[in-house]
Amino acid sequence: MLAGFRRSALASQSLCLNLCLCPNSLLSPAPRRGWRRSPRRAPSSDGGGDSAQASDPQADSAAAGRGVPGGGEHGRDRAQGGGRHQRLGGQEFILSEDYNKMTPVKNYQAHQSRVMMILFVLELEWVLSTGQDKQFAWHCSESGQRLGGYRTSAVASGLQFDVETRHVFIGDHSGQVTILKLEQENCTLVTTFRGHTGGVTALCWDPVQRMLFSGSSDHSVIMWDIGGRKGTAIELQGHNDKVQSLSYAQHTRQLISCGGDGGIVVWNMDVERQETPEWLDSDSCQKCDQPFFWNFKQMWDSKKIGLRQHHCRKCGKAVCGKCSSKRSSIPLMGFEFEVRVCDSCHEAITDEERAPTATFHDSKHNIVHVHFDETRGWLLTSGTDKVIKLWDMTPVVS
Ligand SMILES: [Zn+2]
Ligand SMILES: [Zn+2]
Repeated sequence: MLAGFRRSALASQSLCLNLCLCPNSLLSPAPRRGWRRSPRRAPSSDGGGDSAQASDPQADSAAAGRGVPGGGEHGRDRAQGGGRHQRLGGQEFILSEDYNKMTPVKNYQAHQSRVMMILFVLELEWVLSTGQDKQFAWHCSESGQRLGGYRTSAVASGLQFDVETRHVFIGDHSGQVTILKLEQENCTLVTTFRGHTGGVTALCWDPVQRMLFSGSSDHSVIMWDIGGRKGTAIELQGHNDKVQSLSYAQHTRQLISCGGDGGIVVWNMDVERQETPEWLDSDSCQKCDQPFFWNFKQMWDSKKIGLRQHHCRKCGKAVCGKCSSKRSSIPLMGFEFEVRVCDSCHEAITDEERAPTATFHDSKHNIVHVHFDETRGWLLTSGTDKVIKLWDMTPVVS
């Protein structure tokens, strides 16, 4: 892992110390359009209202309200001539041969509030960072100079970079992933992905298959198949709490996702999964034709009480509770847990199709960060309990 990494490291002066290396990669430019996600409604939909894509007001107030939070106590005050704001940023260190000593080399005064993510791109001598000031910035690690910046729609908590094509992926608290193409001193917006109903908490980029994984506080992971160029986005539902960190084992094509519930889920990404269907709109059950409760006309005409609307996760049809009384896992659609399906879909799903495509493990701590060392097959998890755990993953990641 550390091979090829010159003995200079970057650590952020923020709560999350985040060291990352960008492996070499191959990518042709990302598709510009066609990313379609089915709109998500409240789990038991009781009307036609779309509640998708709510922004995260908490994130905004946290950024605005606190001024200079957390990292400020370590941040050097550089309020020069008229500048009211304290600038916070990353710090560059030289690591000793035996990794036992860190000597500070350089400060990057990149942000006006706490640094959220930091990424060092050795090949380009770039330092990429996002902050609670909703800014994405990149600096030259040779000169220390700021090269450019971009204002994100919300505080960004996921950052990945493709070296080959110089695309940067920024996931933010509004649930959006922004893709920018970086030049030496400017950037252009390529596209944005919207699929999560909660904030993006983690991003992971596979430069070989050209897939982007985004984890979210909505408990889901979405695989954005950029390499496939068809705008395919596959949902992976295997957590009972927010997804907090992701790691990808390239050799075995397994995705490791960790959540606030302590769950470690190892996903087999060799499996071909289907996209979840768009939820259909209807004023009456698409199976038994009984009216839903807002359909007053049909209720009056047929003298029947309206029913609650539900959706079959497999076919997307709007159905009543009676016509969707059964539950099933649909691993080939990313649903590792049992979800609502209509009665005919329930019959159609074979036992073979119910075979899990992921393995589940309990870390017994609230994981905030994972790192997978592919050469040894070791997984490192760090939790809110201030404990770092090392796991031998060779029995499951192989
Ligand atoms: Zn029905
Ligand atoms: Zn169905």
